[in-house]
Amino acid sequence: MMAHSAFNPFEMAQRQFDSIADKLDLDQATRDLLRNPMREYHFNIPVRMDDGSMKVFRGFRVQHNDARGPCKGGIRFHPQETVDTVRALATWMTWKCSVVDIPLGGGKGGVICDPHNLSLREQERLCRGWVRQVAKNVGPLTDVPAPDVMTNGQHMLWMLDELEAIRGEKLPGFITGKPVGMGGSLGRTEATGYGLVYTLREALKELNVRPHDTTAAVQGFGNVAQYAIELYQQLGGKVICVSSWYQPEQCAYTFRKKDGINLKELMGIIDRYNGIDKNKAKELGYEVLPGDAWIEQEVDILIPAALDNSINTDNVSKINKKVRIMAEGANGPTTPEADKVLVERKIFLIPDFLANAGGVTCSYFEQVQCNMNYFWTKDEVLGKLDQKMTSAFIATSELARKQKLYMRDAAYVISVSRVAQACRDRGWV
Ligand code: NAD
Repeated sequence: MMAHSAFNPFEMAQRQFDSIADKLDLDQATRDLLRNPMREYHFNIPVRMDDGSMKVFRGFRVQHNDARGPCKGGIRFHPQETVDTVRALATWMTWKCSVVDIPLGGGKGGVICDPHNLSLREQERLCRGWVRQVAKNVGPLTDVPAPDVMTNGQHMLWMLDELEAIRGEKLPGFITGKPVGMGGSLGRTEATGYGLVYTLREALKELNVRPHDTTAAVQGFGNVAQYAIELYQQLGGKVICVSSWYQPEQCAYTFRKKDGINLKELMGIIDRYNGIDKNKAKELGYEVLPGDAWIEQEVDILIPAALDNSINTDNVSKINKKVRIMAEGANGPTTPEADKVLVERKIFLIPDFLANAGGVTCSYFEQVQCNMNYFWTKDEVLGKLDQKMTSAFIATSELARKQKLYMRDAAYVISVSRVAQACRDRGWV
């Protein structure tokens, strides 16, 4: 989520926390502890550029809370990175790890930079420099980074190599998102999209609806959307449209086929940023509609899996009367104002930090496999992922039913109370 002048994501994360703290009647010390990160590191990273000059980049690592286990969270490379964005994302990682009940806390890191303007060698030196600045404060039992916006498995390997060189030992559990064969886990690519559909499958059971009697509209056609569509279609569901960004015209389009989109066919006409080629889609018989059209389709299920703030006061009223479920694949796709409308409309929500927790859960599995130096088959990984996501969903929906809570609030109540309890058990509050 990007910070811009009018919107501070950390203030939003704190407001969300305050409202749950009120619901849970948390004492002042627990509020003070959980409202702000435990620790933050802000540092300069001097990098020798290819032309021989030196450039200094600003880097961050925020450890929001580690009462339940080592911190976990990605490292972002972005020209508009701000420490408040990193703080907010670290806070949300604490809640995400807690709601799926994995023994990890929340962290996030970043560097203010645009990797498009850096050569591979410069990126390598930046990654190694980042690790040198925080080497004492990260590690498999302290804080475990992962790829995020504009970072990938190669960046993670350079970072791992640097920490291992500094410490003089192999520490494959230090970082996740590594390539398969170099300590990465099978199933990681599928994990977020599949994880979302495991929770969606449970929601449909609860509403007594068979997946093959349902239709869905999806925003985005990236990693999360593609695997969510694959598994949902395997369960018998029909996706009637997807939207994506169309780079040549700098705008989004929705691609619709009322008898159901063909995943493979669309995957054959995407660019490297997962944007669908408008002209080729037309040739394949797709209707090309405006970017926002996905939200007004007559479907049972909406899956926003592209961006934050994409369901807002401008478009929430366009949601079709037929829609019963919204499963949030993206982080923060619904603004707080639009959220109120979903509550009034009684749309069954699977909130982002539950629905998209499959990624971090699989990263946790990667760390476990690395620490024991024994790797599971893809079926084993996905089986364990299904169990974790299913039980997290059931715990949340049971609480929502019992206490008549909105699903987002129920998920927050579970995750915040687990973290608060861990802090109490440790004698921190
Ligand atoms: P991605 O970059 O692979 O795909 C993003 C997709 O969104 C692309 O198809 C792009 O064309 C589309 N898009 C961009 N702008 C759009 C717009 N205005 N309208 C419609 N479509 C648009 O990204 P991803 O990995 O699939 O992540 C999607 C979301 O899920 C992000 O919010 C991300 O933070 C969140 N998320 C991802 C993971 C993961 O494991 N990949 C885990 C948790 C959360």
